[in-house]
Amino acid sequence: MPSKSKAAAKAASKKAPAKAAAKSVKKAPVKAVKAVAAPAKASGKKPKYVYTWGAGKADGNGTMKPLLGGKGANLAEMTRIGLPVPAGFTITTEVCTYFYEHKKTYPVELKAQIEAGVRNMEKIMGTKFGDKTKMPLLLAVRSGARDSMPGMMDTILNLGLNDETVVAVAKITNNERFAWDCYRRFVQMYGDVVLGVQKLPGEDHEPFETVISNLKVERYQDEHLADSLLTAEDQKDLVCRFKALVKERTGKNFPSDPWQQLDGAVGAVFGSWMNDRAIVYRRKYNIPSEWGTAVNVQAMVFGNTGDESGSGVAFTRDPATGEKMFYGEFLINAQGEDVVAGVRTPEPVKELKKQMPKAYAELDRIRTTLEKHFKDVQDFEFTIQAGVVYMLQTRNGKRTGLAALRFAVEMEKEGLIDWKTAVNRVPADQLDQVLAPIFDRDAVKKAKVIGTGLPAGPGAATGKVYFNAERAEAAAHKGEKVLLVRIETSPEDLRGMIAAEGILTARGGVSSHAALVARQMGKVCICGASGIEIDYHTKTMNAGGMTFKEGEDYISIDGTSGTVYAGEVPTADSEIIQGLLRGDAIAKKGATYKNFIKLMNWCADATKLQVRTNADTPKQVQDAVSFGASGIGLCRTEHMFFEGDRIDAVREMILAEKKDDRLAAVAKLLPYQKGDFVGIFKALKGLPATIRLLDPPLHEFLPQDSTAQSALAEKLKTSVDQIAKRVHELHEQNPMLGHRGCRLGISFPEITEMQARAIFEAAAEVAKKGGKVKPEVMIPLVGFKKELDLQVAIVNRVAEEVQKEKKVKIDYLVGTMIEVPRGAITADEIAHTAQFFSFGTNDLTQTTLGMSRDDSGSFLKDYQENEIVKKNPFATIDQGGVGQLMQIAVEKGRKTRPDIKLGICGEHGGDPDSVKFCHKLGLTYVSCSPFRVPVARLAAAQAALAK
Ligand code: ADP
Ligand code: MG
Ligand code: MG
Repeated sequence: MPSKSKAAAKAASKKAPAKAAAKSVKKAPVKAVKAVAAPAKASGKKPKYVYTWGAGKADGNGTMKPLLGGKGANLAEMTRIGLPVPAGFTITTEVCTYFYEHKKTYPVELKAQIEAGVRNMEKIMGTKFGDKTKMPLLLAVRSGARDSMPGMMDTILNLGLNDETVVAVAKITNNERFAWDCYRRFVQMYGDVVLGVQKLPGEDHEPFETVISNLKVERYQDEHLADSLLTAEDQKDLVCRFKALVKERTGKNFPSDPWQQLDGAVGAVFGSWMNDRAIVYRRKYNIPSEWGTAVNVQAMVFGNTGDESGSGVAFTRDPATGEKMFYGEFLINAQGEDVVAGVRTPEPVKELKKQMPKAYAELDRIRTTLEKHFKDVQDFEFTIQAGVVYMLQTRNGKRTGLAALRFAVEMEKEGLIDWKTAVNRVPADQLDQVLAPIFDRDAVKKAKVIGTGLPAGPGAATGKVYFNAERAEAAAHKGEKVLLVRIETSPEDLRGMIAAEGILTARGGVSSHAALVARQMGKVCICGASGIEIDYHTKTMNAGGMTFKEGEDYISIDGTSGTVYAGEVPTADSEIIQGLLRGDAIAKKGATYKNFIKLMNWCADATKLQVRTNADTPKQVQDAVSFGASGIGLCRTEHMFFEGDRIDAVREMILAEKKDDRLAAVAKLLPYQKGDFVGIFKALKGLPATIRLLDPPLHEFLPQDSTAQSALAEKLKTSVDQIAKRVHELHEQNPMLGHRGCRLGISFPEITEMQARAIFEAAAEVAKKGGKVKPEVMIPLVGFKKELDLQVAIVNRVAEEVQKEKKVKIDYLVGTMIEVPRGAITADEIAHTAQFFSFGTNDLTQTTLGMSRDDSGSFLKDYQENEIVKKNPFATIDQGGVGQLMQIAVEKGRKTRPDIKLGICGEHGGDPDSVKFCHKLGLTYVSCSPFRVPVARLAAAQAALAK
């Protein structure tokens, strides 16, 4: 086994600090991969496609993830730091790229390099591949993409077994059952992954599993008999039946030549890069398909030789809650697939302490070594063969938002990382998980508990039960709240898991597929819930003496405690919201609350870009300010038009055909608007407020059906016909590009005048009482300088008048939104008048792409599937198009007015990637909805630290 070379370990830790390793994951573009091969080719040397590791030495290291994949790079790294890793080699991701560019063929050099790799393993292990007389070298063939894609791709174990080598294994180990167990597993995995013998549409069980169940029923009358109770004879019989199944489904014989087996397995791993679930997964996590996967071929170690052996998965800390404890699970006498597949429920790692104290101590030592070396929480896989521990994988552990927060704060305290690293360790888009609702304390006391399981994904979720991923997805699509309930999940269930509010499984542990995926997606999840019986056939679930029908009955799951409740349990605010926004004293003592505050304080130290909020009411302003907003970036005045009976005055204003009538209606609105602004200015306590003048098309305010029209007619003392006529006149073919924005103020200057007056009178009132006010009046949808000039003239005139009337000085700005391409392109002209720009990226995206946000739902999915756009451009700024326009506007605007204030107020202001882009552009602030403020602050801090 690998010798522990201290020198190698030291050298490796110097050369490959964990940070560099982590960084290389996403940043290194595909080109970097190519660059590795190109010089080799140019210099006439043979390109290197195979990187070996073993016995304390490795060709690769942890920084080489783009080339070797995450698994391969870290196997090399672990070998270098002296951890016990079985020997093996990595076939690079370049070969995958080559494979797809050359009609699924390989570079000519590959075959010889693979053979040399196997020879190297034979030398280290002291066994021979395909040996029929002595213990043969058996192989694990494992996929390994740059970013880990848990369970997305396929692994084959025990490769090299056939009817002859299995006899040798049985003889040498003196363990016939073990030998045939391995062989049976191999035929099953190979049959599934390489030969494609899989569940047919409509089948609920894997065909090989059905064969096993049948045998158990025939021989033991017990479908649920533990696999470990099957005898050597049973396993032999299963091998026969499996081969027959392969022949029946594929028409081909199962390959017995080990080299042919290896060839098929390598091809299957490369092939799995393009399978449906891998594609779905990549799309969800924005992994480019050009990256490709590596293939790792590794000597097998055996966790299934008896009760001194086992396999497990562990985390150096709890990835669900973040607690610092040795967390994980293992199965005695089993190969690793059993743990991950969630077929058997494993035991917690701490049980190992009693059962194999030596192995436990070794694992605990490794746990510390890993964190010290990689400086992050590790998720690792191990096998114990006859009491000896082997490391099979390590990677930075996927974690919930809650855990990410706690890891970051505690590791900084322990001195493992500095505060800047800590800020970067919390993914901004996961931060809202810690703000997510929890179950209401009182409601929970009354709710009926129907089961408990392992808390695998924290949070509260409730929905109707669905037992199949497709049906769950369909129901969610129709707008139902859905909980996916499965005996266990497999990668095929991914779409259903994405669609569901939460996931509940009856079997499987905290490292089962369901738990892994839930953690990564931030889904509420409970695994291995006892007392829950699922019948796929009748589509029902029995629990706590009740029956729940698919698509009809609700349950609720608490993924923080692991409790399952009957019915819909109401939810309450998270600890942070209770503490921060409601001043709840109990919540403020909570660890999550304190960690959150610590993180936000670090963000404040790091940040340049300010975060403002989109808010229309004093309450929203207060919430946002509590979250750390530094003002309002967008106050939409029209939202106030709908409240109470003021909508009648608004309608009167719109319906007016004569100017005098309109003036009368507008005068009625003035006190309302003024009152709103007073409330907002007070709540802001001197922070700036960007207030946008009336923007939406007028018909949005009018009653469209005849009953509402006649009610209005009665109120306004006019005829229904008159109203219907006006509604008809205001109808537009394309309101998004119609009479809206500053075009309203151009046609009806009295509206602009009233709004300006309301703003300044409110400001004067608050200022007179000693309050500080900073209004920033914003004119929407400007494309021509003249549009802005006309509106600004009104605003300035009114400001003058009010200041004179009220005898008070008001510090204010007038600026514009940049939200049509013409505005961006003529920004230098516009900046002569505008004191600030605010990018309205919703409209700017619509008008730049010529794509209506409200109608894009029907085709954007196809665009994403065809990778025309990587992300929804209405959620994340399209940097190549819209982003360029923004850049032009920034440059031109600054040329005219160097100190121009720049912000963004579209939906994008709360999207981490877009926030980072805005930082790069050098904007003054981003603005987003109150509850996104922490996310934006974190993203802004990370952007500032990235330099
Ligand atoms: P995944 O990427 O899905 O985690 P892996 O390649 O890690 O797939 O393989 C899955 C499991 O197979 C591992 O957790 C481990 O238990 C087992 N396994 C992989 N390689 C070996 C090996 N060399 N010897 C024994 N078991 C192995
Ligand atoms: Mg693994
Ligand atoms: Mg707009």
